[in-house]
Amino acid sequence: MDIHPFALALARPLGTARGDITEREGFVVRLSVDGTTGVGEAAPLPDWTESLAACEAALERVAESEAETEPTALPTHETLADAPAARHAVASAVLDARAHAAGEPLARTLVDEAGNGAAPCASVPVNATVGDGGPEATAAAVASAVADGFGTVKLKVGARSVAADIERIAAVRDRCPDITLRADANGSWDLRAAERALEAFADHGVAYVEQPLPADPTPESGTRRDLRAHAELRGLGVGIALDESLAVGGEPVAAALDAAAADALVLKPMALGGPDRAVAAAHAARNAGVQPVLTTTIDGALARATAVHAAAAVPDVSACGLATGDRLECDLLDADPAPVADGRVRVPDGPGVAGATRWHQGRTDRV
Ligand SMILES: [Mg+2]
Repeated sequence: MDIHPFALALARPLGTARGDITEREGFVVRLSVDGTTGVGEAAPLPDWTESLAACEAALERVAESEAETEPTALPTHETLADAPAARHAVASAVLDARAHAAGEPLARTLVDEAGNGAAPCASVPVNATVGDGGPEATAAAVASAVADGFGTVKLKVGARSVAADIERIAAVRDRCPDITLRADANGSWDLRAAERALEAFADHGVAYVEQPLPADPTPESGTRRDLRAHAELRGLGVGIALDESLAVGGEPVAAALDAAAADALVLKPMALGGPDRAVAAAHAARNAGVQPVLTTTIDGALARATAVHAAAAVPDVSACGLATGDRLECDLLDADPAPVADGRVRVPDGPGVAGATRWHQGRTDRV
């Protein structure tokens, strides 16, 4: 297994709890399964996965332990237990090789792995994301997304007062009466602020709010504190989606479903440890009557396309957060194998992750 570091400049800084980052760093791994090459991407992100150094160390341990024989099965290595981005890369590469050997798109391989037999979708609906801004600017940005063909827009909220966010939502609804509107608070409210926002957002037909309260896996009366609190916020007329809560604690997807804490779960293959795990989590959510939404972690083109295949393996998937390629200034592939048009992303129909668009090693040097 070869490990190739990369660094991709972001078109604009990405805010994390540990400050803004200006590039996405990671590794492309390349391995061979029964003579067929597969590639996979690890793009670790602070707060969501292991660190870059821990990711590299985990990949090196896999490469050393597999010096004689390449990994041919989906990794279950102890060394990857706390390294979801590293596992994402290795699992993606094994699945890419298998899909290439079968001459089928990765989505087909993922459907077969999940064992439900449904045909993968040819395209997946995606949402546009609109950041913070005043009411006028926010409404204009949403109108622009509608003009580009998006049927669902996610608004970032929580950077200003609840009253100011309510004004923004009202301005958007006034200008775009038919758009499916979601909001993402990134855990910035307390219970009182969340209740106030949700009650007002319900009047403007907001479909769901992502992560109203902070992630907090502290146990409380037999369940996690954040899951218990989010469960209490359900039923106020706006759905509750969990995102950051799924990056902390052991088995967070199962815990969220057990606690009936959400109407929707935001599933990030990179944070969950691979596309196979994201598809399994999506099926578990659907079986519990919870809406799965697959999203990237602002990854390179390989991991974005991998996430698109994962979404395509989920029946009737609702709008996903996969339209993130424009956040990067350069990329891992010469052409995006999963382009976005009219609010949908096309699922690559060639073999493997990226069909005939192969990973370009020359583009993965550190910049
Ligand atoms: Mg979110």
